[in-house]
Amino acid sequence: MALTHNLGFPRIGERRELKQTLEAFWRGDIDDKQLQIKAAELRRHHWILQREAGLDLIPAGDFALYDQMLNMTALLGAAPARFNAGNDEIGLDLYFAMARGTASQPAMEMTKWFDTNYHYIVPEFDAHTRFRIASSQLFREVAEAMALGISPKVVLVGPLTYLYLGKETEPGFNRLDLLTQLLPVYREILARLASLGVEWVQMDEPLLALDLEDDWLSALDHAYAALDGAETKLLLTTYFEAVDNHAARLKKLPVDGLHIDLCRAPDQLDIFLESYPIGKILSLGIIDGRNIWRADLAQALTTLSRAQSTLGERLWIAPSCSLLHCPVDLELETRLDSEIKNWLAFSVQKLQEVSILGQGLNQGQDAIREKLDASTRARQERRESPRNHNPVMQERLQRLTQNDSQRTSPFAVRQVLQQQRFQLPDLPTTTIGSFPQTSEIRQARAAFRKGEIGNLQYLEAMRKEIQLAISKQEEIGLDVFVHGEAERNDMVEYFGEQLCGYAFTENGWVQSYGSRCVKPPILHGDIYRPESMTVDWIQYAQSQTTKPVKGMLTGPVTMLMWSFVRDDQPRSTTALQLALAIRDEVADLERAGIGIIQIDEPAFREGLPLKKAAWNEYLKWAVEAFRVSSSGVKDDTQIHTHMCYSEFNDILPAIADMGADVITIETSRSRMELLDGFGEFKYPNEIGPGVYDIHSPRIPETGEMLELLEKACKVINPKQLWVNPDCGLKTRSWPEVVTALERMVEAARQLRAQINISQTETISA
Ligand code: GLN
Ligand code: ZN
Repeated sequence: MALTHNLGFPRIGERRELKQTLEAFWRGDIDDKQLQIKAAELRRHHWILQREAGLDLIPAGDFALYDQMLNMTALLGAAPARFNAGNDEIGLDLYFAMARGTASQPAMEMTKWFDTNYHYIVPEFDAHTRFRIASSQLFREVAEAMALGISPKVVLVGPLTYLYLGKETEPGFNRLDLLTQLLPVYREILARLASLGVEWVQMDEPLLALDLEDDWLSALDHAYAALDGAETKLLLTTYFEAVDNHAARLKKLPVDGLHIDLCRAPDQLDIFLESYPIGKILSLGIIDGRNIWRADLAQALTTLSRAQSTLGERLWIAPSCSLLHCPVDLELETRLDSEIKNWLAFSVQKLQEVSILGQGLNQGQDAIREKLDASTRARQERRESPRNHNPVMQERLQRLTQNDSQRTSPFAVRQVLQQQRFQLPDLPTTTIGSFPQTSEIRQARAAFRKGEIGNLQYLEAMRKEIQLAISKQEEIGLDVFVHGEAERNDMVEYFGEQLCGYAFTENGWVQSYGSRCVKPPILHGDIYRPESMTVDWIQYAQSQTTKPVKGMLTGPVTMLMWSFVRDDQPRSTTALQLALAIRDEVADLERAGIGIIQIDEPAFREGLPLKKAAWNEYLKWAVEAFRVSSSGVKDDTQIHTHMCYSEFNDILPAIADMGADVITIETSRSRMELLDGFGEFKYPNEIGPGVYDIHSPRIPETGEMLELLEKACKVINPKQLWVNPDCGLKTRSWPEVVTALERMVEAARQLRAQINISQTETISA
């Protein structure tokens, strides 16, 4: 009998109940008891959903009030010393203090979970880190499941991944040195789980998807040898990438089973099937946990049958990874077009697919004939649907040539022409795009959506906001203006809604971090832009001032990364289609007289594959897509781009290759560490390293910004330098924004004066 199971269920709730509960608790509207009751209700509901889907083995321990890594930190008693945890149980207060900070202690750092849009809380390690079981939450949750009649498989982040994803807070310290004292605590946890009646523990070790150094690989052998003989069985679980390079090693590990991801890496099956150890389970992740398409059940069944003929009873079936990265239930989508809905599967539907496949394997194809046929039909309808195909765009893709990703003249020529046209001072000042999204703005947008106000009224409301933004920028004395993005609630959704090939859900939420969720739009078909998307707004803004106003667009790579993307063609093709749509928008803006156009690519780095060997291929098509979107303009039209993360030294050449005339980037949080990279690699075009952190309510003094700029001047020619904040200002308030920008403009003035003096000195010398 092939057994069906799940690796993890989304915990945010089908209507984001966890979000509301958490935020109510943080506001003080409910107390900790009420929070715990609500959380337990959610867990119970999710367990029941999974049982109803027909799974054999249901996970516990996959729930978290904030984050699964933080749960491990609490369970293992690894709260950083600065939180003064003492020897007590780590309760809610400390748990949330670590996640969100307190008046006296900053929160623990947060970073992306592999290549997903989920962010985990980064463990902090130093030589004094000690482990102990410091939270009984997990054991309580197991008991809850048992009380429901569910004998759960318990999910833990494995010891290697837990250490690997943490950071050392003490120079010279190696976190791997903590393994020896970590393992006994894992053993203790396993023993306690066994005493509760738990048979299986899923040890998540996704670190195996990364390029691993040898010491980590030997540590893996060491760790699982030390866990050998534990009172529970262990399923070593990998996902997000192929682990076939470690196949021999993994087969040898003294664990009771392995899970591999066949959606990201279908080809790795054969190597695992080859002389797979007797007595070891192989769990195949055959249903895609990272996307929302309905599976091709017939094809999956063929793969599974092949595996079954080798594995027999040792075969398990599951989604590729935890369903944390998928929305909860498609049934809640009442407004989604029924044709499109039929192509999709959210978490609940994916578990039904897993269970159908199990039935097919165990009882024969005939038992699931109807469901197989329905799945094949849905795939076929999707393939053939006219709404997914646009001959015009396909033909344009065919006709793309090298020239389409080439500006007319090299940057040096363009720079002179642009300087003549815009006559900007040295160190020009600008902002990244959005201005405060006040409650009036949000109310107006919501009223418009609900049909409570008409077109004209909405237009008036937004124009008033644009006027306000322009007049504030005049007062502050910036050099290059923006319109403020009042009409956009989300930089991807805004464009997606105006493009053919995109669909939107009502409840398709996915947890991003803590109580925060995103609702990625669904990119299902060929992208086509029926009409201009931004020109009216920008043109209106430009009509209010003599300063240049930037046209503001979202780039093709970011559109792709922040959507659920079609899986029936390479992502590179989809990126090019998006690029063409944006290219047309750029052309319309240019025609309307807009001379500076910014194409944001904040998600550019996110697309980097987990394994370095695949980086070049990605960078090649991602850069190409950006170039296609931005190269169709005259030399004296200035293309800007914006990226907001600080680690990009390793991809600087690719970023230079994008060819934007100006790039603005985040640097202030790292106090311009980024600029280290510019010592070795001379960035050829103009660049605006953010001089203050918009994420923090703290407004730095003029002197601080000046200091950062002076630092930048040491590695970047001042003639190439722009002055701007880190990112868009939509989350800030107007008073904060005005003060911060006034100081920023003043810092630029002071630096200009300094540079002038030093130039005069050189000339007279
Ligand atoms: N132009 C966008 C803004 O200012 C950029 C947002 C981003 O970088 N994520 O809001
Ligand atoms: Zn940004």
